[in-house]
Amino acid sequence: MRIVIVGAGLAAANAVEELRSQGHDGSIALFGAEPHLPYNRPPLSKGYLLGNEDEASIFVHDGQWYADQSVELHLGSRVTGIDLDRGRVHVGTDEHAYDRLLLATGSTPRRLPAADDAGGAVAYLRTLEDSRALKAAFQPGRRIVIVGAGWIGLEAAAAARTAGSEVTVIESLDLPLLRVLGSEVAATFAELHRSHGVDLRLGASVEGFTSAGAAETVLRLGDGSEVSADLVLVGIGVAPNDELARESGLAVDNGVVVDERLCAADPHVYAAGDVANHRHPTLGRRIRVEHWDNAIEQGKVAARNMLGQDEAYTRLPYFFTDQYDLGMEYVGNVGPDGYDEVILRGNPAGVFTAFWLKGDHVLAGMHVNDWDAIDPIRALVGAAVARDRLADESTDLAALAGS
Ligand code: NAP
Repeated sequence: MRIVIVGAGLAAANAVEELRSQGHDGSIALFGAEPHLPYNRPPLSKGYLLGNEDEASIFVHDGQWYADQSVELHLGSRVTGIDLDRGRVHVGTDEHAYDRLLLATGSTPRRLPAADDAGGAVAYLRTLEDSRALKAAFQPGRRIVIVGAGWIGLEAAAAARTAGSEVTVIESLDLPLLRVLGSEVAATFAELHRSHGVDLRLGASVEGFTSAGAAETVLRLGDGSEVSADLVLVGIGVAPNDELARESGLAVDNGVVVDERLCAADPHVYAAGDVANHRHPTLGRRIRVEHWDNAIEQGKVAARNMLGQDEAYTRLPYFFTDQYDLGMEYVGNVGPDGYDEVILRGNPAGVFTAFWLKGDHVLAGMHVNDWDAIDPIRALVGAAVARDRLADESTDLAALAGS
Protein backbone atom coordinates (compact mmCIF):
# COMPACT_ATOMS: atom_id res chain seq x y z
CA MET A 1 0.00 0.00 0.00
CA ARG A 2 1.36 3.41 -1.01
CA ILE A 3 0.66 6.30 1.32
CA VAL A 4 1.04 9.92 0.25
CA ILE A 5 1.13 12.71 2.81
CA VAL A 6 0.59 16.29 1.67
CA GLY A 7 2.06 18.88 4.03
CA ALA A 8 5.37 18.18 5.76
CA GLY A 9 4.63 19.55 9.22
CA LEU A 10 4.14 18.04 12.63
CA ALA A 11 1.08 15.95 11.79
CA ALA A 12 2.97 14.46 8.84
CA ALA A 13 6.10 13.61 10.84
CA ASN A 14 4.03 11.89 13.50
CA ALA A 15 1.99 10.02 10.92
CA VAL A 16 5.19 8.71 9.30
CA GLU A 17 6.55 7.60 12.65
CA GLU A 18 3.31 5.85 13.52
CA LEU A 19 2.98 4.16 10.12
CA ARG A 20 6.41 2.58 10.48
CA SER A 21 5.97 1.67 14.14
CA GLN A 22 2.68 -0.06 13.23
CA GLY A 23 4.64 -2.17 10.75
CA HIS A 24 3.65 -0.51 7.49
CA ASP A 25 6.38 -1.52 5.07
CA GLY A 26 4.85 -0.05 1.92
CA SER A 27 5.99 3.19 0.41
CA ILE A 28 5.46 6.57 2.03
CA ALA A 29 5.83 9.80 0.05
CA LEU A 30 5.89 13.12 1.85
CA PHE A 31 5.28 16.39 -0.01
CA GLY A 32 5.98 19.74 1.63
CA ALA A 33 5.78 23.24 0.16
CA GLU A 34 8.41 24.54 2.59
CA PRO A 35 12.01 23.56 1.89
CA HIS A 36 12.47 22.14 5.40
CA LEU A 37 12.05 18.80 7.08
CA PRO A 38 9.06 18.79 9.46
CA TYR A 39 9.63 21.05 12.45
CA ASN A 40 7.92 22.13 15.66
CA ARG A 41 6.32 25.56 15.46
CA PRO A 42 5.92 26.41 19.19
CA PRO A 43 9.61 27.44 19.52
CA LEU A 44 9.16 29.93 16.67
CA SER A 45 7.21 32.21 19.02
CA LYS A 46 8.86 31.00 22.26
CA GLY A 47 12.28 29.43 22.88
CA TYR A 48 13.80 29.88 19.43
CA LEU A 49 12.52 33.45 19.13
CA LEU A 50 13.93 34.19 22.57
CA GLY A 51 17.29 32.73 21.60
CA ASN A 52 17.04 29.91 24.15
CA GLU A 53 16.70 27.05 21.63
CA ASP A 54 18.87 26.51 18.61
CA GLU A 55 17.58 25.89 15.13
CA ALA A 56 18.59 22.22 14.95
CA SER A 57 16.49 21.39 18.02
CA ILE A 58 13.19 22.40 16.44
CA PHE A 59 13.21 19.63 13.79
CA VAL A 60 11.19 16.51 14.61
CA HIS A 61 13.82 14.22 13.05
CA ASP A 62 16.95 14.76 11.00
CA GLY A 63 17.30 13.82 7.34
CA GLN A 64 18.96 10.50 8.16
CA TRP A 65 15.88 9.36 10.08
CA TYR A 66 13.65 9.81 7.01
CA ALA A 67 16.21 7.95 4.90
CA ASP A 68 16.29 5.14 7.47
CA GLN A 69 12.48 4.97 7.34
CA SER A 70 12.59 4.83 3.53
CA VAL A 71 10.45 7.93 3.20
CA GLU A 72 10.35 9.50 -0.25
CA LEU A 73 10.85 13.17 0.57
CA HIS A 74 9.57 15.89 -1.77
CA LEU A 75 10.43 19.12 0.03
CA GLY A 76 9.89 22.49 -1.58
CA SER A 77 7.28 20.69 -3.66
CA ARG A 78 3.75 22.06 -3.65
CA VAL A 79 0.97 19.64 -4.56
CA THR A 80 -1.24 21.37 -7.09
CA GLY A 81 -4.17 19.00 -7.43
CA ILE A 82 -5.79 15.76 -6.32
CA ASP A 83 -7.57 13.31 -8.62
CA LEU A 84 -9.80 11.38 -6.26
CA ASP A 85 -11.15 9.02 -8.94
CA ARG A 86 -7.71 7.88 -10.04
CA GLY A 87 -5.97 8.14 -6.65
CA ARG A 88 -3.32 10.59 -7.80
CA VAL A 89 -1.81 13.82 -6.52
CA HIS A 90 -0.41 16.29 -9.01
CA VAL A 91 2.71 18.37 -8.66
CA GLY A 92 2.56 20.54 -11.75
CA THR A 93 2.57 18.05 -14.61
CA ASP A 94 3.86 15.15 -12.48
CA GLU A 95 1.49 12.56 -11.05
CA HIS A 96 1.98 10.44 -7.95
CA ALA A 97 -0.32 7.52 -7.14
CA TYR A 98 -1.68 6.81 -3.68
CA ASP A 99 -3.75 4.14 -2.01
CA ARG A 100 -4.27 6.31 1.06
CA LEU A 101 -3.82 10.09 1.21
CA LEU A 102 -3.27 12.19 4.31
CA LEU A 103 -3.92 15.92 4.02
CA ALA A 104 -1.85 17.72 6.64
CA THR A 105 -1.56 21.08 4.91
CA GLY A 106 -1.88 23.25 8.02
CA SER A 107 -2.99 26.87 7.92
CA THR A 108 -1.84 30.29 6.73
CA PRO A 109 -1.84 33.60 8.61
CA ARG A 110 -4.68 35.97 7.77
CA ARG A 111 -3.29 39.01 6.00
CA LEU A 112 -4.00 42.61 6.81
CA PRO A 113 -3.97 44.10 3.30
CA ALA A 114 -3.84 47.72 4.49
CA ALA A 115 -0.63 46.93 6.37
CA ASP A 116 0.84 45.00 3.43
CA ASP A 117 0.07 47.85 1.05
CA ALA A 118 1.50 50.63 3.21
CA GLY A 119 5.04 49.94 2.04
CA GLY A 120 6.64 49.72 5.49
CA ALA A 121 8.14 46.76 7.33
CA VAL A 122 5.33 44.25 8.01
CA ALA A 123 5.84 40.74 9.36
CA TYR A 124 3.75 37.61 9.95
CA LEU A 125 4.86 34.60 11.98
CA ARG A 126 4.34 31.11 10.69
CA THR A 127 7.58 29.72 9.27
CA LEU A 128 11.14 29.28 10.42
CA GLU A 129 12.17 32.13 8.10
CA ASP A 130 9.55 34.39 9.68
CA SER A 131 10.90 33.61 13.15
CA ARG A 132 14.53 34.15 12.09
CA ALA A 133 13.62 37.57 10.70
CA LEU A 134 11.71 38.58 13.82
CA LYS A 135 14.52 37.45 16.08
CA ALA A 136 16.87 39.71 14.16
CA ALA A 137 14.38 42.60 14.36
CA PHE A 138 13.79 42.38 18.13
CA GLN A 139 16.60 44.71 19.17
CA PRO A 140 16.82 47.07 22.14
CA GLY A 141 14.88 50.25 21.47
CA ARG A 142 13.23 49.03 18.24
CA ARG A 143 9.55 49.99 18.11
CA ILE A 144 7.52 46.84 17.48
CA VAL A 145 3.78 47.25 16.98
CA ILE A 146 1.80 44.04 17.10
CA VAL A 147 -1.72 43.83 15.68
CA GLY A 148 -3.70 41.09 17.47
CA ALA A 149 -3.38 39.95 21.08
CA GLY A 150 -3.82 36.23 20.40
CA TRP A 151 -1.16 33.57 20.93
CA ILE A 152 1.23 34.91 18.31
CA GLY A 153 0.79 38.50 19.43
CA LEU A 154 1.37 37.80 23.12
CA GLU A 155 4.21 35.32 22.79
CA ALA A 156 5.98 37.59 20.32
CA ALA A 157 5.35 40.59 22.60
CA ALA A 158 7.05 38.72 25.45
CA ALA A 159 10.03 37.85 23.25
CA ALA A 160 10.34 41.42 21.96
CA ARG A 161 10.17 42.93 25.46
CA THR A 162 12.72 40.41 26.69
CA ALA A 163 15.01 41.56 23.88
CA GLY A 164 14.54 45.18 25.00
CA SER A 165 12.26 46.38 22.21
CA GLU A 166 9.46 48.86 22.80
CA VAL A 167 6.21 47.00 22.25
CA THR A 168 2.69 48.19 21.53
CA VAL A 169 -0.07 45.59 21.07
CA ILE A 170 -3.33 46.56 19.39
CA GLU A 171 -6.32 44.29 19.95
CA SER A 172 -9.89 44.79 18.82
CA LEU A 173 -11.44 42.98 21.77
CA ASP A 174 -11.54 44.30 25.34
CA LEU A 175 -8.96 41.82 26.62
CA PRO A 176 -6.23 39.65 25.07
CA LEU A 177 -7.24 36.02 24.39
CA LEU A 178 -10.77 36.96 25.36
CA ARG A 179 -12.55 34.46 23.12
CA VAL A 180 -10.45 31.55 24.36
CA LEU A 181 -10.18 32.33 28.05
CA GLY A 182 -13.11 34.57 28.93
CA SER A 183 -12.75 37.81 30.87
CA GLU A 184 -11.82 36.29 34.26
CA VAL A 185 -8.58 34.68 33.08
CA ALA A 186 -7.86 36.92 30.09
CA ALA A 187 -7.42 39.79 32.55
CA THR A 188 -4.35 37.97 33.93
CA PHE A 189 -2.67 38.22 30.54
CA ALA A 190 -3.46 41.92 30.19
CA GLU A 191 -1.90 42.58 33.59
CA LEU A 192 1.10 40.36 32.81
CA HIS A 193 2.01 42.27 29.67
CA ARG A 194 1.37 45.72 31.13
CA SER A 195 3.58 44.85 34.11
CA HIS A 196 6.34 44.02 31.62
CA GLY A 197 6.04 47.39 29.93
CA VAL A 198 3.86 46.52 26.94
CA ASP A 199 1.62 49.34 25.77
CA LEU A 200 -1.55 47.29 25.41
CA ARG A 201 -4.29 49.05 23.45
CA LEU A 202 -7.53 47.12 23.96
CA GLY A 203 -10.85 47.63 22.19
CA ALA A 204 -8.74 49.39 19.56
CA SER A 205 -9.11 49.38 15.82
CA VAL A 206 -6.53 50.18 13.18
CA GLU A 207 -8.03 52.68 10.76
CA GLY A 208 -5.06 53.06 8.49
CA PHE A 209 -1.35 52.71 7.87
CA THR A 210 0.93 55.28 6.36
CA SER A 211 4.56 54.87 5.61
CA ALA A 212 7.22 57.10 4.23
CA GLY A 213 9.32 54.14 3.15
CA ALA A 214 10.58 51.03 4.89
CA ALA A 215 11.99 52.92 7.88
CA GLU A 216 8.78 53.77 9.70
CA THR A 217 5.10 52.90 9.59
CA VAL A 218 2.49 55.04 11.32
CA LEU A 219 -0.72 53.33 12.40
CA ARG A 220 -3.81 55.49 12.80
CA LEU A 221 -6.19 54.08 15.40
CA GLY A 222 -9.95 54.45 15.68
CA ASP A 223 -9.65 56.86 18.62
CA GLY A 224 -7.60 59.23 16.47
CA SER A 225 -4.25 58.40 18.06
CA GLU A 226 -1.18 57.42 16.06
CA VAL A 227 1.48 54.82 16.83
CA SER A 228 4.84 54.70 15.05
CA ALA A 229 6.54 51.41 14.31
CA ASP A 230 9.90 50.26 13.02
CA LEU A 231 8.18 46.92 12.42
CA VAL A 232 4.52 45.89 12.40
CA LEU A 233 3.82 42.24 13.29
CA VAL A 234 0.36 41.02 12.31
CA GLY A 235 -1.06 38.09 14.32
CA ILE A 236 -4.79 38.10 13.62
CA GLY A 237 -5.44 34.41 13.22
CA VAL A 238 -5.06 31.80 10.50
CA ALA A 239 -7.13 30.20 7.76
CA PRO A 240 -6.94 26.45 7.02
CA ASN A 241 -5.14 25.44 3.84
CA ASP A 242 -8.12 23.57 2.42
CA GLU A 243 -8.08 24.80 -1.23
CA LEU A 244 -6.63 21.56 -2.60
CA ALA A 245 -9.35 19.54 -0.91
CA ARG A 246 -12.07 21.93 -2.09
CA GLU A 247 -10.85 21.90 -5.67
CA SER A 248 -10.71 18.10 -5.68
CA GLY A 249 -14.36 17.90 -4.68
CA LEU A 250 -13.94 16.82 -1.05
CA ALA A 251 -16.35 18.28 1.50
CA VAL A 252 -14.80 21.45 2.94
CA ASP A 253 -16.25 23.77 5.53
CA ASN A 254 -13.72 25.75 7.57
CA GLY A 255 -11.19 23.01 6.85
CA VAL A 256 -11.44 19.50 5.44
CA VAL A 257 -14.58 17.91 6.84
CA VAL A 258 -13.60 14.62 8.50
CA ASP A 259 -15.52 12.11 10.55
CA GLU A 260 -14.68 10.87 14.05
CA ARG A 261 -11.89 8.74 12.56
CA LEU A 262 -10.38 11.69 10.65
CA CYS A 263 -11.58 10.23 7.35
CA ALA A 264 -12.69 12.76 4.71
CA ALA A 265 -15.63 12.48 2.30
CA ASP A 266 -13.56 10.01 0.23
CA PRO A 267 -12.74 6.76 2.13
CA HIS A 268 -9.14 6.82 0.92
CA VAL A 269 -8.45 10.34 2.19
CA TYR A 270 -7.76 11.50 5.75
CA ALA A 271 -6.90 14.87 7.27
CA ALA A 272 -5.03 15.83 10.44
CA GLY A 273 -3.86 18.96 12.22
CA ASP A 274 -4.92 22.58 11.65
CA VAL A 275 -6.69 21.74 8.39
CA ALA A 276 -9.00 19.05 9.80
CA ASN A 277 -12.54 20.00 10.77
CA HIS A 278 -13.24 16.98 12.94
CA ARG A 279 -16.44 15.56 14.40
CA HIS A 280 -15.30 15.17 17.99
CA PRO A 281 -17.18 12.31 19.63
CA THR A 282 -16.74 13.48 23.23
CA LEU A 283 -17.49 17.14 22.58
CA GLY A 284 -20.41 16.11 20.38
CA ARG A 285 -19.72 18.75 17.72
CA ARG A 286 -17.30 19.71 15.00
CA ILE A 287 -14.07 21.39 15.97
CA ARG A 288 -10.91 22.49 14.20
CA VAL A 289 -7.97 22.82 16.57
CA GLU A 290 -4.93 24.94 15.68
CA HIS A 291 -2.45 23.67 18.25
CA TRP A 292 0.71 21.61 18.39
CA ASP A 293 -0.62 18.68 20.43
CA ASN A 294 -3.55 18.19 18.06
CA ALA A 295 -1.23 17.91 15.05
CA ILE A 296 0.86 15.29 16.81
CA GLU A 297 -1.99 13.14 18.07
CA GLN A 298 -4.23 13.41 15.00
CA GLY A 299 -1.25 12.49 12.83
CA LYS A 300 -0.89 9.24 14.76
CA VAL A 301 -4.57 8.33 14.75
CA ALA A 302 -4.92 9.11 11.03
CA ALA A 303 -1.92 6.84 10.39
CA ARG A 304 -3.46 3.94 12.27
CA ASN A 305 -6.80 4.39 10.52
CA MET A 306 -5.13 4.53 7.09
CA LEU A 307 -3.71 1.12 7.95
CA GLY A 308 -7.21 -0.25 8.56
CA GLN A 309 -7.85 0.41 12.22
CA ASP A 310 -11.14 1.97 13.23
CA GLU A 311 -10.26 4.45 15.91
CA ALA A 312 -12.14 7.60 16.83
CA TYR A 313 -10.01 10.62 17.74
CA THR A 314 -11.21 11.41 21.25
CA ARG A 315 -8.37 13.46 22.72
CA LEU A 316 -9.44 16.78 24.19
CA PRO A 317 -7.82 19.94 22.83
CA TYR A 318 -4.67 20.87 24.75
CA PHE A 319 -2.34 23.84 24.44
CA PHE A 320 0.35 25.61 26.40
CA THR A 321 2.09 28.94 26.43
CA ASP A 322 5.18 30.52 27.94
CA GLN A 323 5.27 34.29 28.33
CA TYR A 324 7.97 35.89 30.53
CA ASP A 325 7.86 33.81 33.72
CA LEU A 326 4.30 32.60 33.14
CA GLY A 327 3.82 29.06 31.89
CA MET A 328 0.37 27.61 31.39
CA GLU A 329 -1.36 24.51 30.11
CA TYR A 330 -5.03 24.29 29.10
CA VAL A 331 -7.19 21.26 28.40
CA GLY A 332 -10.72 21.13 27.03
CA ASN A 333 -12.88 23.49 25.01
CA VAL A 334 -15.65 25.81 26.11
CA GLY A 335 -17.48 25.78 22.79
CA PRO A 336 -20.13 28.00 21.24
CA ASP A 337 -22.63 27.73 24.12
CA GLY A 338 -20.19 29.35 26.54
CA TYR A 339 -19.75 28.71 30.25
CA ASP A 340 -21.71 29.61 33.36
CA GLU A 341 -18.81 30.38 35.67
CA VAL A 342 -15.08 30.17 36.13
CA ILE A 343 -13.71 28.74 39.34
CA LEU A 344 -10.28 30.14 40.17
CA ARG A 345 -8.10 28.46 42.76
CA GLY A 346 -4.92 30.17 43.94
CA ASN A 347 -3.55 33.59 43.15
CA PRO A 348 -4.57 34.98 39.74
CA ALA A 349 -1.41 37.10 39.76
CA GLY A 350 0.79 34.07 40.51
CA VAL A 351 0.19 30.33 40.68
CA PHE A 352 -3.38 29.25 40.04
CA THR A 353 -5.77 26.84 38.37
CA ALA A 354 -8.99 27.73 36.60
CA PHE A 355 -12.00 25.67 35.59
CA TRP A 356 -14.76 26.63 33.17
CA LEU A 357 -18.11 25.12 34.16
CA LYS A 358 -21.51 24.75 32.55
CA GLY A 359 -23.80 23.60 35.34
CA ASP A 360 -21.73 21.02 37.18
CA HIS A 361 -19.92 19.95 34.00
CA VAL A 362 -16.25 20.90 33.63
CA LEU A 363 -15.75 22.15 30.06
CA ALA A 364 -12.09 23.13 30.39
CA GLY A 365 -9.34 23.61 32.91
CA MET A 366 -5.93 25.23 33.01
CA HIS A 367 -3.10 26.00 35.35
CA VAL A 368 -0.54 28.76 35.54
CA ASN A 369 2.87 27.71 36.90
CA ASP A 370 1.34 24.75 38.76
CA TRP A 371 2.81 21.96 36.69
CA ASP A 372 1.67 19.06 38.87
CA ALA A 373 -1.94 20.13 38.34
CA ILE A 374 -2.22 19.11 34.69
CA ASP A 375 -3.06 15.44 35.37
CA PRO A 376 -5.95 16.14 37.76
CA ILE A 377 -7.13 18.92 35.43
CA ARG A 378 -7.19 16.47 32.53
CA ALA A 379 -9.11 13.98 34.67
CA LEU A 380 -11.69 16.59 35.68
CA VAL A 381 -12.40 18.00 32.22
CA GLY A 382 -15.52 16.38 30.82
CA ALA A 383 -16.63 15.18 34.26
CA ALA A 384 -19.40 16.39 36.53
CA VAL A 385 -18.08 17.83 39.78
CA ALA A 386 -19.46 19.07 43.05
CA ARG A 387 -19.05 22.79 42.41
CA ASP A 388 -18.51 23.73 46.05
CA ARG A 389 -15.79 21.14 46.54
CA LEU A 390 -13.97 22.38 43.45
CA ALA A 391 -14.26 25.97 44.65
CA ASP A 392 -13.01 25.00 48.12
CA GLU A 393 -9.25 25.42 47.88
CA SER A 394 -8.67 23.11 50.81
CA THR A 395 -9.96 20.24 48.63
CA ASP A 396 -7.01 18.53 47.02
CA LEU A 397 -7.39 18.59 43.22
CA ALA A 398 -5.88 15.14 42.77
CA ALA A 399 -8.27 13.71 45.35
CA LEU A 400 -11.21 15.42 43.64
CA ALA A 401 -10.13 14.06 40.28
CA GLY A 402 -9.86 10.56 41.72
CA SER A 403 -13.18 10.67 43.56
P1 NAP B 1 -5.36 33.89 17.36
O1 NAP B 1 -4.82 33.22 18.57
O2 NAP B 1 -6.61 33.41 16.75
O3 NAP B 1 -5.50 35.43 17.77
C1 NAP B 1 -5.77 36.46 16.85
C2 NAP B 1 -6.25 37.67 17.65
O4 NAP B 1 -6.24 38.82 16.82
C3 NAP B 1 -7.65 37.52 18.18
O5 NAP B 1 -7.73 38.04 19.48
C4 NAP B 1 -8.44 38.36 17.19
O6 NAP B 1 -9.66 38.82 17.68
C5 NAP B 1 -7.49 39.50 16.96
N1 NAP B 1 -7.79 40.24 15.75
C6 NAP B 1 -8.34 39.76 14.59
N2 NAP B 1 -8.40 40.73 13.65
C7 NAP B 1 -7.87 41.84 14.23
C8 NAP B 1 -7.64 43.17 13.78
N3 NAP B 1 -7.95 43.52 12.52
N4 NAP B 1 -7.09 44.07 14.63
C9 NAP B 1 -6.75 43.71 15.89
N5 NAP B 1 -6.96 42.45 16.40
C10 NAP B 1 -7.49 41.54 15.56
O7 NAP B 1 -4.30 33.85 16.16
P2 NAP B 1 -2.73 34.16 16.16
O8 NAP B 1 -2.28 34.74 17.44
O9 NAP B 1 -2.50 34.87 14.86
O10 NAP B 1 -2.08 32.71 16.05
C11 NAP B 1 -2.10 32.01 14.82
C12 NAP B 1 -2.23 30.52 15.07
O11 NAP B 1 -1.09 30.00 15.73
C13 NAP B 1 -3.42 30.18 15.90
O12 NAP B 1 -3.98 29.06 15.33
C14 NAP B 1 -2.85 29.85 17.23
O13 NAP B 1 -3.63 28.88 17.92
C15 NAP B 1 -1.50 29.27 16.87
N6 NAP B 1 -0.54 29.50 17.95
C16 NAP B 1 -0.71 28.82 19.10
C17 NAP B 1 0.17 29.03 20.14
C18 NAP B 1 -0.02 28.28 21.42
O14 NAP B 1 -0.77 27.32 21.44
N7 NAP B 1 0.65 28.68 22.48
C19 NAP B 1 1.21 29.93 20.01
C20 NAP B 1 1.36 30.62 18.82
C21 NAP B 1 0.47 30.39 17.77
P3 NAP B 1 -11.03 38.12 17.13
O15 NAP B 1 -11.15 36.86 17.92
O16 NAP B 1 -12.07 39.13 17.41
O17 NAP B 1 -10.84 37.85 15.65
